[in-house]
Amino acid sequence: MDPIVSARNALKESDALLITAGAGMGVDSGLPDFRGNEGFWRAYPVAKKLGLSFVELANPHWFEADPALAWAFYGHRLRLYRETQPHEGFSLMLALARQKEEWFVFTSNVDGQFQKAGYDEEKIVECHGSIHHLQCTECSAGIWPAEGVEIPVDMSAFRALKWPKCHACGATARPNILMFGDWSWDGSRTGAQEERFEDFLQRVLVKRLKLCIVEIGAGTAVPTVRFTGENIASRFGGTLIRINPREPWIEQGLGIGLSMGGLEGIRAVTAAPQGV
Ligand SMILES: [Zn+2]
Repeated sequence: MDPIVSARNALKESDALLITAGAGMGVDSGLPDFRGNEGFWRAYPVAKKLGLSFVELANPHWFEADPALAWAFYGHRLRLYRETQPHEGFSLMLALARQKEEWFVFTSNVDGQFQKAGYDEEKIVECHGSIHHLQCTECSAGIWPAEGVEIPVDMSAFRALKWPKCHACGATARPNILMFGDWSWDGSRTGAQEERFEDFLQRVLVKRLKLCIVEIGAGTAVPTVRFTGENIASRFGGTLIRINPREPWIEQGLGIGLSMGGLEGIRAVTAAPQGV
C-alpha cells in the first residue's frame, strides 16, 4: 500500500494522537535549522566570523564570561520566534488532535510555536525548555516568563545592548533552555510538563486507546524526540508516522517513514481521501 494511504488510515483509526517535533517542524515557518555548522553559519554569518559553532555558542558559560555575546544570540532568537507565525501544518495537526479522545505534544523546540498556534499549554512537553522563560545564572530564584522583556541586539557586532537580570539577586538571567554542557538548567518546568505527559500515557493505557504518533522534522543528531516516539510506539503498539525529508528511515513494524518536508507531509497525511 502507498505509505501515505497507510499513514492516513492509521491516523483515521486512532483515538489518541501524540505529535512529536524537532527543528524541522519550524523550517516551513521560515525558521533556521541549525543542522551542521554550515546551517548554523548561514543563519548567523557573524558567528562564523567569530569562529563559533552552534555547540560552542549554545553553552551556558557565555552568560557569565560574556553576557553581551550570549544574549546577542538568544535575544535575536527570542525576537525571531516572537515574530514568526506558525505555518499551516500546526493548525492542521491541532484540528486533527481535537477530533481524538486524547492528544499531546512532545517537542525539542524551544521556540514556543505550538503555544502560539493555539495548542493547550497543559498538553505540551518542551523537553529542552523554552526561550520564553528565564532563570538566574547564580541563585535558585526559579523560572519566570520572558514576556515583555526586550533585548536590543547590535547584529553587526553581535552584541546585546542590554539583557534581563534576576529579580531576586540581580545577577544575569538566562533562557530556561537546556544547552550543551549545561549543569545549571532548571528542569522544574519541563519536569511538570513530563508529569502531565505521563498522565496522558496512563490514560491511553487504561482506556486502551489506539495510539498514533506523528513525528515531524526530528533528526538523528540529537535523537531525544526520535527515541521517545519509538519507545512509546513499541510500548503501546502504536503506529509511528515519521515525516522527515532526509532521515525518514524507521524500524520495520514500528511505523511508516515519509520522505517529505514538515508541512508537505502534514498536508499529505491529514488530507481527506480522494475519490472512491
Ligand atoms: Zn538570582
